[in-house]
Amino acid sequence: MHVSQGERSGATMVIVVHRTVEGRSLGGCRMWHYAHPSDALSDAKRLARSMSFKAAAAGLALGGAKAVIALPDGERPVGAQRERLLRDFAELIESVQGRYITGQDVGVSVEDISYLARFTEHVAGHPVSEGGSGDPSPYTARGVEAGIRASLTGALSGRHVVVVGLGHVGGELARRLHAAGAKLTLSDTDERTRALASELGASWVAPNEALTVPADVLSPCALGGIFDQETVASLQVPVIAGAANAQLNEDRVADALAARGIAWAPDFIINAGGLIAVACELDGFERDRALRAVDGIADTLTEVYAHARRDRVSTLTAAKALAGERLSSSALAA
Ligand code: NAD
Repeated sequence: MHVSQGERSGATMVIVVHRTVEGRSLGGCRMWHYAHPSDALSDAKRLARSMSFKAAAAGLALGGAKAVIALPDGERPVGAQRERLLRDFAELIESVQGRYITGQDVGVSVEDISYLARFTEHVAGHPVSEGGSGDPSPYTARGVEAGIRASLTGALSGRHVVVVGLGHVGGELARRLHAAGAKLTLSDTDERTRALASELGASWVAPNEALTVPADVLSPCALGGIFDQETVASLQVPVIAGAANAQLNEDRVADALAARGIAWAPDFIINAGGLIAVACELDGFERDRALRAVDGIADTLTEVYAHARRDRVSTLTAAKALAGERLSSSALAA
């Protein structure tokens, strides 16, 4: 763990490298306000560990890491104040000597990545105009679509999908599903996103009703923690496959889903598209190669479902086992 008190900004910032593969780890930087600096440290630790699993499950030769810049208050820093934070963060990255490569996370933009790249080369997720992968969300949405297809028996066309959360990923996913001929029900807390439902000729439901709509697929693309024992009991779908991180409020919920015969696509497998695209930058970004790698999420998920069926375990248990196997084989290669 590498912690510093920014010389220019005075802000606490931390880089946690959970593990390296071939001497490298990748994980976005989160710029966020925490009640206490120790909360920033524990958030970074938790996120770094999950990045190791996510990268391993995606078959990437990269360890997991995460960085956090703890903002002094809830205000989004702009102008010179933002530049001071980023200059300090670039220095912290340099001090880790290439073992940590940063990228975007909550509160950090593609423009910030571009600015950081002026002071350190250990950065990924550059803008498309600079030869990078740019915004990761379209890749994440593509990976989720691939995951939905892998979760269904038969074609996507004509199937009913409920998408909850129509932001960067969910909005793009809804467009992709519409283009593939799926029937859509959309939902978001932000009423402005209702325009997308009109544009795509989709039905609209309030978020508190979205989890009980009878459909072929429920695709959670908003916040985490939405499935608990109670919500699982009222679900009316055979498949859950969406982008939201940390969808289960506790691991045991995966068993409840399995007991109900619901195929749950583990979040850290199905939402890896953005990470895969950003990782492709490290060997020189080629869009077609990135797209093929993102589409590989379908194969990984098919493997998870087969393992879960064979060993009669939840998809979460199967996904963790797969990530564990890939972690140990990449550790051998390291
Ligand atoms: P976003 O902020 O652009 O969009 C989130 C959307 O969810 C917003 O439109 C918001 O109004 C809506 N929302 C919030 N609370 C809601 C609720 N209770 N019910 C319904 N809608 C609600 O975020 P994003 O980048 O699209 O990411 C969506 C999810 O996917 C997050 O959990 C994120 O961590 C995860 N994820 C994103 C990426 C990526 O590439 N952006 C990659 C991996 C995982």
